[in-house]
Amino acid sequence: MAMLENLSKDSFNLHQNGQLKNDSGKENKGSHKLSTEIKIDIERLYEAVPRLSSFFFIEDKIGEGTFSSVYLATAQLTSGKVEKFALKHLIPTSHPVRIAAELQCLTVAGGEDNVMGVKYCFRKDDHVVIVMPYLEHDSFLDLLSSMNLEDVREYMYNLLKALKRIHHFGIIHRDIKPSNFLYNGCLKKYALVDFGLAQGTHNTKIELLKVVRAEDQQRSCLKTKSATSSGIKHPHSETTSKALVQHSAEKQPIKRPWPPTQAKPGKPARSIKTADITSRKILVAKRKAGSSKNASSCLIRKSSVCPSNLTCDCYTTDRICSVCFSRRHQVAPRAGTPGFRAPEVLMKCPHQTSAIDMWSAGVVFLSLLSARYPFFKASDDLTALAQIMTIRGSKETIEAAKLFGKAVSCSKECPKLDLRTLCERLRGTHCFSKRKSSQKSELMDCSHISGTVPAPDAKDEETKQIASLSSIQEVQNQARKVNQDVEWNSVKSKAKSSDLKNWCAVPDLAYDLLDKLLDLNPATRITAEMALGHPFFEGI
Ligand code: ADP
Ligand code: MG
Ligand code: ZN
Repeated sequence: MAMLENLSKDSFNLHQNGQLKNDSGKENKGSHKLSTEIKIDIERLYEAVPRLSSFFFIEDKIGEGTFSSVYLATAQLTSGKVEKFALKHLIPTSHPVRIAAELQCLTVAGGEDNVMGVKYCFRKDDHVVIVMPYLEHDSFLDLLSSMNLEDVREYMYNLLKALKRIHHFGIIHRDIKPSNFLYNGCLKKYALVDFGLAQGTHNTKIELLKVVRAEDQQRSCLKTKSATSSGIKHPHSETTSKALVQHSAEKQPIKRPWPPTQAKPGKPARSIKTADITSRKILVAKRKAGSSKNASSCLIRKSSVCPSNLTCDCYTTDRICSVCFSRRHQVAPRAGTPGFRAPEVLMKCPHQTSAIDMWSAGVVFLSLLSARYPFFKASDDLTALAQIMTIRGSKETIEAAKLFGKAVSCSKECPKLDLRTLCERLRGTHCFSKRKSSQKSELMDCSHISGTVPAPDAKDEETKQIASLSSIQEVQNQARKVNQDVEWNSVKSKAKSSDLKNWCAVPDLAYDLLDKLLDLNPATRITAEMALGHPFFEGI
């Protein structure tokens, strides 16, 4: 971890007491009063890494995630200029290799083409603080209500530019979403941040991502071995080790624990709880599926490698049979935020590529065009997959799943929706569109997707996951609501009527690009480089 110590004092004035004065000579406490909680956090950070106080005055906490807290700090340069920095304090339980890999992504790929760079890094014991230039940024919800089509075009262009750069280095970001792509509308500045979940492609240029990759593979081998040798795997140990491998970005509390078995005193080892919840969820789903003939459900299974001599006898019952308990767990990276996850991630396809970031960029684009955020709001993978099906079509999703060796069953067929009609309806510009009459019939008459269809036969499946009845119905209801121009799943931006004219002339090219980003097949999904050359961006 020597690289983490790398620090230059040259460009800073040292502040013995760690307190910078602002122009008025008073201590700068930021524009608003800090809560006691934030003040305590700031004090703790100074205590954990005392050297920070020699350089920085920490003004506020600006971000708090599962893996880190981000602070706004100022420092006086030797030139006398006071500059703002973002200080990312990684949770001390983070795996050292992960931390170093995050830092290496920033140092190697960052600083250019809208990818955030890094200025310094501090480490004391297990506390690591990454110092980045501060980019003041707008909230995405505010952006949605104020951006015109040209702004959206530029936003997407700049996001794709950042993706092209990181993909060139063989970095898969895995958590592309608005809060990780900072945008300052006034300055027209953009920055992709947060490589905390990044992974390397097979030929990544980021050395430490190779290490992360190797460790993940080693763990998945070990896991498979232990699961097969013991016959029955213990659900608790399973999830604890999974938490190490799969740095899921859901704001759930089991992220990046290191060492794996240590829980902080007073803090429960929540990963174990999650295992309980997961198995309980499956049980509940099964019970529901079994108790109602009307159950409509969605189910994924791996089409190959089934124990041919053994047959599961627990489907539609409220227990898990020994056959199911002994099934090999499929290990696949699953990082990301559910609503932004690509179908191949949701289906646990083990071979994932940078195409997963392109899907997420597509979801961001969908939000921008429809003025809804978050667009897909799902708490679990199957709900997310069902939501994707309602937009991209169930037949199409099932076909795509086959390509990566998964069998998906859906109890009701959902037609693929026309993206223009969908976005115009949601944005409320549909009535202005000339295409209105020709496409109205295509618009989600989803009444046919609810109803009574027997649950699919789940015999012999490798990975059994059943979406709960309620979540499927939720999706169907949501789809129906779209039809009625009712708010769907997300906050509708307060688009002013003055903005409408711009939004009434969205070119077909925009939807063509969106369609290519939201390609269910990662092999044919548009790459960042190709997308930048898409005619939608002509003239930028
Ligand atoms: P996490 O891994 O906890 O999500 P991020 O790196 O995404 O951490 O940072 C969390 C939040 O902190 C971001 O969404 C953003 O609002 C803010 N942030 C992070 N880096 C910067 C930066 N360089 N400048 C300004 N704000 C930042
Ligand atoms: Mg983040
Ligand atoms: Zn079974």
